[in-house]
Amino acid sequence: MSNDSKLREDICRFGRSLFERGLTPGSSGNISVKLEDGGWLVTPTNASLGFLDPARLSRLDPSGRLVSGDAPTKEVPLHTALYETRGAARAIVHLHSTHSVALSMLPEIDPRAALPPMTAYYLMKCGATALVPYYRPGDPAVADAIKGLAGKYSSVLLANHGPVVAGDTLEAAVFATEELEETAKLYLLLRGLNPRHLSPEQVKDLVKVFGLTLPEHAHGG
Ligand SMILES: [Zn+2]
Repeated sequence: MSNDSKLREDICRFGRSLFERGLTPGSSGNISVKLEDGGWLVTPTNASLGFLDPARLSRLDPSGRLVSGDAPTKEVPLHTALYETRGAARAIVHLHSTHSVALSMLPEIDPRAALPPMTAYYLMKCGATALVPYYRPGDPAVADAIKGLAGKYSSVLLANHGPVVAGDTLEAAVFATEELEETAKLYLLLRGLNPRHLSPEQVKDLVKVFGLTLPEHAHGG
């Protein structure tokens, strides 16, 4: 099996797993993986992540032109904006996952740290999550908003829409998206109950021991 066909299988396998656990409904959500020639594989438009066909994934060249497969998701600009500003990103996952979408609508959310430092794994997998404002689907301005974050965030929450998460590998991007969703769920469960978050000392300790890079002004940094 060539590297390309392994990646195709992986996209379909992770897509099905996310869909079957209710993490993105209907034909929402999309996944992309960067290829060695600078192009990428991306899930097609109007395709459910639960029922992807490896042979029909959209294969794009480095300039974003369709080389083979079905037409790509209309949300390609979300992916290109994050790839452009995060050079190390090899894969991106975008979902319409319930708790993350709910979180994005709350009035108190800090756009530089959409979630407080609640668990060590959230910090280790997501670092901090930025919130960008609401944009109508297909509005190219959302890409500018993501580029405006200057690549400091691997996880971005689109208000009233859902998360976009980059990773060094497809698996890393999927796991980070799941961690973000679980942390958003915890936040909603505990909202108003005055929970203990990690202290600045505990955050500093994680940063030191695990070599984390947190954006300025996130989690008290
Ligand atoms: Zn979307």
